[in-house]
Amino acid sequence: MPVTLPVKDRFELPDGMIYLDGNSLGPLPRGVKQAVADMISDQWGAHLIKGWNIDGWMAQPLRVGNLVGRLVGAAPDTITMGDTLSIKVVQALAAGLRMRPDRKVILSDSGNFPSDLYMAQGLIAHLAQGHELRIVAPEEVEAAMTDDVAVAMITQVDYRSGRMHDMTAVTNAAQAAGAVMLWDLAHSAGAVPVDLATCGCEFAVGCTYKYLNGGPGAPAFIYVRPDLADRIDPLLSGWLGHDAPFAFEATYRPAPGIERMRVGTPPVLQLAALEVAMQVWDGVDMDDLRAASLRLSDLFIAQVEDRCPQLTLASPRDGARRGSQVSFAFEHGYAAMQALIARDVIGDFRAPNLMRFGFTPLYVDEADVIRAVDHLADILNQRIWDTPAFQKTSRVT
Ligand SMILES: *Cc1c(COP(=O)(O)O)cnc(C)c1O
Repeated sequence: MPVTLPVKDRFELPDGMIYLDGNSLGPLPRGVKQAVADMISDQWGAHLIKGWNIDGWMAQPLRVGNLVGRLVGAAPDTITMGDTLSIKVVQALAAGLRMRPDRKVILSDSGNFPSDLYMAQGLIAHLAQGHELRIVAPEEVEAAMTDDVAVAMITQVDYRSGRMHDMTAVTNAAQAAGAVMLWDLAHSAGAVPVDLATCGCEFAVGCTYKYLNGGPGAPAFIYVRPDLADRIDPLLSGWLGHDAPFAFEATYRPAPGIERMRVGTPPVLQLAALEVAMQVWDGVDMDDLRAASLRLSDLFIAQVEDRCPQLTLASPRDGARRGSQVSFAFEHGYAAMQALIARDVIGDFRAPNLMRFGFTPLYVDEADVIRAVDHLADILNQRIWDTPAFQKTSRVT
């Protein structure tokens, strides 16, 4: 049954909190606490090691991968879960490089998340084959698809500004140049409609603790285009990506299909939480979600520009070029965000000066947006941010 957004009752949100940080860590979906507690006592507690078989723990990565796959337009059994996004990035990247041994360039852009770039740098150093990480401005990605590019490793939605790439156009440009296309969907999955099967990219990766509400430390996902999945060479040749893990052979042989992108023991408790968390998507139409996200974001931009002249929009004004988050630049952005958080309006801060707000239509509505700007305008106009308590920086911003 299609549902009308928001579906706030599907989440356990603290009373009075306006949560505009679901792009960084999604809130707790209702039912997860109980399901994980039951799982711990009824499966782990009661069945112990038998749980791997009778409770289907070993099949979890593919089963949950199929739930994620529905949201990103992936065919069944083309996504598996596990590890963290940084690990999935390096797996996909290494497999892509092996597909283009005669090319030496990894193309990325300056809007990518540092961990993706760091993983590429680490891989290049260890391969010691003369690869180069070429970082261009986001607007130049398509023009930079030259015939030396082995893999284009691009994050669709910029974590700072929310600027969004056109997946079809970039994928077409990469493939026309003979490059392998690797998409990072960290800020796309559950935020904007994605259609991996139609897009035709070779690889995609993403995380599940942001818009998919899987909780802190929730596992990442990796997609491999089905026609390639039997042919790619895994970098991380762990036993659970082996064709016969329980044969305990001395030599690695990759499992058929996407299973070869598994590495070691799956995070069973985290996957159990995520599997239940995915129920919040029941009946949610991604086009409805996108329309609601743009309504909320446009309203926020209009309200802030009207009432908070101290701030400067740092996201694309055109909704079609923006993901599901909006950032504003402000010299005292860190302190202003601390003051907002003290009033239970939760966003976050990205250096050097960005106040970042995520709009997640599953549990944020227009009234929340107006109330958030009420607080923001008050904090700016009264200079409430200007106290030492709000200047003190924590380890996580
Ligand atoms: C959030 C994010 C990450 C984080 O990676 P982890 O390994 O899960 O910590 C990596 N890349 C991008 C693009 C992200 O947005």
